[in-house]
Amino acid sequence: MQDTEEKYLLETAMGEIMPMKGVHLAEIKIGNKTLQKEEWDSHVDTAQWTKRLILNISQWITCKFRNTNYFFTQALTGHGSFTTYTHRIAKTVNNRCRYCGDTDTPEHTLFSCIRWEVRRGAVKVYLGEDITPDNIIIRMCQSKEKWDAGFNFIIKIMERKEQEERADQNRQ
Ligand SMILES: [Zn+2]
Repeated sequence: MQDTEEKYLLETAMGEIMPMKGVHLAEIKIGNKTLQKEEWDSHVDTAQWTKRLILNISQWITCKFRNTNYFFTQALTGHGSFTTYTHRIAKTVNNRCRYCGDTDTPEHTLFSCIRWEVRRGAVKVYLGEDITPDNIIIRMCQSKEKWDAGFNFIIKIMERKEQEERADQNRQ
């Protein structure tokens, strides 16, 4: 269980990544579904994931290069094109990865799925080491060049994944 200060810091950070598109902590809108804050708080897995990515909260808050958008927020919160999430809200029939069949968590998509291996190799050149959930944001906050490389890596995967899902749905 988080202590109060940690919880406050996490909520501050979440508040800062959420303001876009009318998304804020009291009422979190994902697609056509609106989660109430209590609902959000009870999503322990999601909070844990965000907390793991934003390991160094003061670095995150003071990071000069930080920006967010729809796809980046999806990746950071886990509320997006991940079947572990879409299955939970009954949008998909199971929680398997569409590309490899593994359980499709945010960590799987961004850091291990074979579908995005080439992109992962490319971003490694910019960030200077193999990326993991525990180092990517820390690395990105080190320079504008690193931020842009990491940011684009994340949003391009999310964008592409959503496009491919939509294309599949249209074929059905
Ligand atoms: Zn996969």
